[in-house]
Parts: sequence; structure tokens; C-alpha cells
Amino acid sequence: MRAFLAINLDRKMKELVAGVQDELKKRTRGFRWVNPELLHLTLKFLGEIRSEDLQLFEQPLKELAEKMPPFRLTFDRLGAFPNFRRPRVIWIGAQVGSEQLELLAEKIESVFRSLSFQPDQRKRGKEENIFVPHLTIGRKRKDQDIYFPSEILHEDWNCEYAVSVDRFSLMQSILYASGPVYRPVKEFLLDA
Ligand code: ATP
Ligand code: MG
Repeated sequence: MRAFLAINLDRKMKELVAGVQDELKKRTRGFRWVNPELLHLTLKFLGEIRSEDLQLFEQPLKELAEKMPPFRLTFDRLGAFPNFRRPRVIWIGAQVGSEQLELLAEKIESVFRSLSFQPDQRKRGKEENIFVPHLTIGRKRKDQDIYFPSEILHEDWNCEYAVSVDRFSLMQSILYASGPVYRPVKEFLLDA
């Protein structure tokens, strides 16, 4: 199955981010906006995994989660991949220096490094292979010119709300022509 590890958001945060999307819809052209129900923060993209793979990393992930305390997460700025002159992906970024989030991502990375299990990342530019904690909120539509005025970036996009993170999830992603469907497969509770 196609899989990734992610932090899912509560209803309130999804609504707040949907509000940001609504504002951007009015002021930009050429983007497809992610269904707010599907918003998530990817900790690690795994790609195709087999059930044997899952057995390898399930226990180490469970143990690392148990040693981490729950934390709060805020989102406060817009960003784009690969950059704002040619935005292909528009995102809203987690607060810079969110230490617990960065620590969690690093520990997850080290689990997969120690198992020598790394997904195929050839299709991505290197910008996306360094961990930039973000929610993808929009993507450029193919074959369309975009309009994204740069002043949008300098505005304050703080959601003024902190989501409580007490777990992360192994998500299955099923890609349909109409868009992806994600299904939680396993949850890892933060429990220090
Ligand atoms: P679609 O590919 O149809 O646009 P999607 O990107 O939401 O949908 P997936 O491609 O399965 O669905 O990706 C699941 C999550 O993993 C998303 O958050 C995506 O941004 C992230 N992701 C996908 N591929 C990579 C990759 N090679 N490196 C890092 N993150 C990735
Ligand atoms: Mg994708």
C-alpha cells in the first residue's frame, strides 16, 4: 500500500485553514484547493510498503511515541514549493522552531535510517526532501496560468489556535482520478 506518517488535525484547525483557503481562492487564480477534510501534516512519506515492512517499523515507532510528550502546534505563515516565483504547492507552515515537532520528525527519521528503509524520493525536488513542517493547502492546476500576488506572503496568516497533538498516524493513501483518499491504518500515541 501507499503510505505515509502524519499528524491529523482537529475540526477547529481544519475550519480555520479552510478560512485561509477561502481568502486565497478570492485573491489568486490557477490553483486547486485541498479539501479541508484531507488536510494533514506529513511527518514522513513512505511510498509503497508491504505488510512485512510494517512489522519492521511498527514496534520502534510505538516505542518512540511512548517516550514523547504530547504538544501543541500552531500554523502561522504561507509558503510555496519550489518557491514563490513558481509556486506549484501552496502550504501553511507550522511555527518555526516548534521543537517537539522537529524532534518527533527527527526520531522518526532515525528509526527508518536504522532500518535502512527509505522510500523512493526520486520524483521530488530536494526542497521537499528536507523536512518543512507544513499543510499542503493548494496545488497549481496543470496547464493553467497562475496569479499569486506576492503581498499575500507578507500578511499575517497566524491561525490563532493551537492544535493538541497526542498521536501520529500511519495513513494509507489511495490515489483516484478524483483525488486521494486517506485511511488511518495505525495510531501511535504520544505518552511520556
Ligand atoms: P496526489 O498525489 O493525488 O496529489 P497527495 O499528494 O495528497 O495526492 P500522496 O501522493 O499519497 O497523496 O501523498 C501523501 C502525503 O505524502 C502528502 O502529504 C504528500 O505531500 C506527501 N508526499 C507524497 N510524496 C512525497 C515525497 N516523495 N516526499 C515527501 N512527501 C511526499
Ligand atoms: Mg502526491
